[in-house]
Amino acid sequence: MLYGIIADVHGNLEALESALEKLASADKILCLGDVVGYGPNPNECIQKLRDVGAVCIAGNHDRAATGDLDTQWFNEYAKKAIDWTGAQLTEENKHYLKGLPLTLEFEDFQVVHGSLRQPLEEYILNLADALPTFALMTRPVCFIGHSHQPFCLAKNKDGNYGGRILADGDEFLVDDYEQAIINVGGVGQPRDGDPRACFGIYNSNNKLFSLSRSIYDISAVQKKMKAANLPQKLIDRLARGN
Ligand code: ZN
Repeated sequence: MLYGIIADVHGNLEALESALEKLASADKILCLGDVVGYGPNPNECIQKLRDVGAVCIAGNHDRAATGDLDTQWFNEYAKKAIDWTGAQLTEENKHYLKGLPLTLEFEDFQVVHGSLRQPLEEYILNLADALPTFALMTRPVCFIGHSHQPFCLAKNKDGNYGGRILADGDEFLVDDYEQAIINVGGVGQPRDGDPRACFGIYNSNNKLFSLSRSIYDISAVQKKMKAANLPQKLIDRLARGN
């Protein structure tokens, strides 16, 4: 099976379409949460994912947009965008977001937005953050999102841990490791200094994960955000990818 693994679409339809185009050969699209929030097309992004039969789990922004997660820990820009998003969402799409599970298990991997210890909100940014999730994993690989930064952290066969940042085209053979946590990066709001949409492809036959990037029309998204009166800071960061 060839899985296209995306996360953090954040209402950015142009970025989503660009990623899906590059993932056209995938047997299944998995979306690891935060379909909405920040961007100008929350309903269209949900519809697009449903159209391609994507399997989605929930992120913190999805739950916040439906009023099921308190936004007290959101910064003022994220909160403003969530309030706007919540007002835009159709009842049907709210119902869809409410129904998304927190984690899912597949043949040799599992998926979660933040961490297995705290699926919606915990950031895994380093090995210390990752250890509880390594301990909770029921599969050799766990794919995550949430930080919008692509990386892998792995437990080697000798019991030692290592990690590295992933760039466009980087490959990672999961069979070389005892366990691996892989962040697939963010589609709709990358934060690693590369403004291109970021996502992963996993081939469960040969156990190879590869990271991919795709360009999209950033200025078209920025124009829509401006027209929607979304915060300027959120508009500007798309071009910088941070
Ligand atoms: Zn996010």
